[in-house]
Amino acid sequence: MPKAIVVGKTGGPDVLEYTDVSVAEPGEGELLVDVVAAGVNFIDTYQRSGLYPRNLPFIAGVEGAGTVAAVGRGVSGVRVGDRVAWAMTPGSYAEQAVIPASSAVPVPDEADIELAAAVLLQGLTAHYLVTSVYPVRQGDVILVHAAAGGVGLLLTQLVRSRGGRVIATASTREKAELAKGAGAETVLGYDDFAPQVREITAGEGVAAVYDGVGKTTFDGSLDSLRVRGTLALFGASSGPVPPVDPQRLNSAGSVFLTRPNLANFIATRDELEWRAGELFDALSSGDLTVHIGGKYSLAEARQAHTDLEARKTTGKLLLRCS
Ligand code: NDP
Repeated sequence: MPKAIVVGKTGGPDVLEYTDVSVAEPGEGELLVDVVAAGVNFIDTYQRSGLYPRNLPFIAGVEGAGTVAAVGRGVSGVRVGDRVAWAMTPGSYAEQAVIPASSAVPVPDEADIELAAAVLLQGLTAHYLVTSVYPVRQGDVILVHAAAGGVGLLLTQLVRSRGGRVIATASTREKAELAKGAGAETVLGYDDFAPQVREITAGEGVAAVYDGVGKTTFDGSLDSLRVRGTLALFGASSGPVPPVDPQRLNSAGSVFLTRPNLANFIATRDELEWRAGELFDALSSGDLTVHIGGKYSLAEARQAHTDLEARKTTGKLLLRCS
């Protein structure tokens, strides 16, 4: 029987159980995939802890890449043996996963399969933030929080590739160096970052803040914006932000606050293929680099979650599933 990481009750990393699961058959419109690598994402910790509720029990993980082992009825254009990757699709921490064919993107021949698993979810997120939430323009100064993290390193590179300049935050010297390597001009700590951002921008503030940290950064992010700037609050690694009085957006300078979700930016097959295609092209040309900060066996999923939540990690974490 294949192994998987099952969540039977919500809680800390110790609720992740490495266990046998029954062999799945792909239904109509589905694929059975031999998973090579599953991506570890912060969202996996929210689902495990219950912050983002899911029906129990469930197989953890929402991202991976592997080889198609069986094709369900009604699926065209995909054959057994094809290499595919997917994001925002439940059940990826497993040796085998059944996924909707509509969420599988082909992995180009030249792409390494682990890199495909590593880039997709965080890369699609960085892509929709810089192209669709606040489209970065030449010369824009942008604040990227947790810039040495999985999304952060990709975001920093994509802002730069669109001609933007990046002020970053990171918690350690090692992380600051990584963020600089990805293109950040200045890397700040989290203490009192807003006045420093104001000073660096000669009082103006930044065009946009991409904030995946949430609770501990939200106020400073609002204070860092220029007039009519955009705060894209896309995550809560430090905890959820309490309710916000809309009047604060007026006081901050007619700013825009949005709380986007990747699922709404890959809602059509065309949009998924466009974003994934641009990511794979950028990987292949060398314009985008994925930093894999840790590889774990499937059985070590608890350790991966522990490290991620303890801020010990950089870049992308992968579970090797086969
Ligand atoms: P990261 O690799 O960025 O890990 C989270 C980072 O957050 C840590 O490394 C740490 O960096 C920083 N951090 C700051 N405060 C805390 C804290 N109190 N506890 C833990 N970490 C903290 O994770 P991901 O790249 O997977 O995700 C980044 C964010 O993006 C998450 O909030 C995630 O939910 C969100 N996300 C949102 C999506 C969407 O569509 N809305 C899609 C994908 C991800 P440092 O030590 O430098 O502070």
